[in-house]
Amino acid sequence: MTVHTHPTAIASAIEPGIAAHLDTFVALRRDFHRYPELAFREARTSAKVAELLTSWGYEVTTGIAGTGVVGTLRHGAGGKAIGLRADMDALPIHEETGLPYASETTGVMHACGHDGHITILLAAARHLAETRNFDGTLHLIFQPAEEIGAGARRMLAEGLFERFPVDAVFGLHNWPGVPTGYFGFVAGAAMASVDKALIKVVGKGGHGAAPHETVDPILVAAHLITALQSVVSRNVDPRQMAIVTVGSIHGGTAANVIPESVDLQLTIRSFDPAVRQLLQRRIPDLVEAQAAAFGAMAEVDYRLGLPSVANHVAETEFAAAVALDTFGRNQVDPAFPPRTASEDFAYFLEAKRGSSLFVGNGQSASLHNGAYDFNDALIAPAATFWTRLTERFLS
Ligand code: ZN
Repeated sequence: MTVHTHPTAIASAIEPGIAAHLDTFVALRRDFHRYPELAFREARTSAKVAELLTSWGYEVTTGIAGTGVVGTLRHGAGGKAIGLRADMDALPIHEETGLPYASETTGVMHACGHDGHITILLAAARHLAETRNFDGTLHLIFQPAEEIGAGARRMLAEGLFERFPVDAVFGLHNWPGVPTGYFGFVAGAAMASVDKALIKVVGKGGHGAAPHETVDPILVAAHLITALQSVVSRNVDPRQMAIVTVGSIHGGTAANVIPESVDLQLTIRSFDPAVRQLLQRRIPDLVEAQAAAFGAMAEVDYRLGLPSVANHVAETEFAAAVALDTFGRNQVDPAFPPRTASEDFAYFLEAKRGSSLFVGNGQSASLHNGAYDFNDALIAPAATFWTRLTERFLS
């Protein structure tokens, strides 16, 4: 990527009312970081969120999807409503940053920057409540359990959008390796669907010195792994994205024993739902036929996970235009390359129109890494963006 950050350009675009309170929000972000909480256990975090929203005059609903919180602010007579979402949970990762505000909970860490996402939305919430420069309804959605892919679905199941109807919903994620405060928008699939296949190759065990009396599942597994590479290279349209990764293989206990079975685990990703269906058909067919060719048997447990994050074009273009007008061409890519990771915001986009965008975290360690830390320099630009987006959408 050949883009460069222009710190002065960002600084001049920051909403002064947000800049004035930045120290408070940096301290808040570090407080969230120090006390991370796992999926559906975000009790302290959501209590803090609810307390702050209430103090700024929001109507606050707690207990949606357990620890989820929705803050509602109405202004004027406008009939439109916007939803802005932040995820709140941390990860079962041991923190290795050595920072003064590092996690106080052993083995739990904000290694995906959700501490920052909450803070960005709160910084925007405070400012929007103070200025109320909009006409309509603002719903701030603080979601639990993104990391286990369950929070968004549970909020929807508990009637999120029936209770808090919106015309569009937006979310953001920080992204390491992208210049600090740089905004990326993807019209269409922004992140991949992620499915899993658990495969058991069953042969016939025996002595390693008498292979003719066995059906060797290790040999079958080896052929299978090679054959699986043909799915992406020979079945999927080369203009489409697909990933088939064999991430785990387990079988056997000794050099001179041919085991009874071998277990494989695959992660399977794509952007296009039609490609996803093709993979779901082709992988079990190939695995079963390949095993049969060696006289073995294969059991395939194919588990559908998150769908792809399918951004709606009009809402994405609208959000990108807001960012371009606010920060200028050097800070915004309206045609950012999609990411092959996944996000349960995908479910919100199946229910409502909207878009998920990326904000550069600078040259940090990668997400889900013990050395990662959210970059506090994103708080002001991203909160400014949420503010402008709300004001323009509800104008
Ligand atoms: Zn995340």
